[in-house]
Amino acid sequence: MIYETFSPEETRALGQKIGAEALPGSVYTLVGDLGVGKTVFTQGIAEGLGIREPICSPTFTIVQVYEEGRMPFYHFDVYRIGDIEEMDEIGYEDYFYGEGVCMIEWANLIEEILPEKRWDIIIEKDLEKGFDYRKITINRREE
Ligand code: ADP
Ligand code: MG
Repeated sequence: MIYETFSPEETRALGQKIGAEALPGSVYTLVGDLGVGKTVFTQGIAEGLGIREPICSPTFTIVQVYEEGRMPFYHFDVYRIGDIEEMDEIGYEDYFYGEGVCMIEWANLIEEILPEKRWDIIIEKDLEKGFDYRKITINRREE
């Protein structure tokens, strides 16, 4: 599925819709350049899950846990990961195969341990279509 948004509000609203429909155990990966809107989108997901506190990028911890919504929300940012073993150290399987919703930013860096059943999300700019334009591609993977 391809979505197009023309403002941060629209991107947040799309995230919100996905968060509102998310089922326990869902894993979403999120890839896109710096400043493209990953945090805006993730904030929407969190709101859709009923989380009111602001989402911040988990820069110095790999995962940030939010418990106040209708199910736990696990927000990963693996950008600074040095070795895949760091994922073992935090017990990633409990999150990936648990009852909450996972959002993994920079998921391409930990490709080898991603669950096969997941949703891949890519956010891209296209300056020809305007400064605030974003193309958001969402693909369900199953194999
Ligand atoms: P990232 O987390 O990917 O580094 P952020 O979500 O922190 O990016 O920032 C995205 C920036 O782009 C924000 O300043 C936001 O206002 C701006 N922006 C402009 N248009 C859009 C859009 N259509 N969707 C999302 N963000 C947008
Ligand atoms: Mg961010």
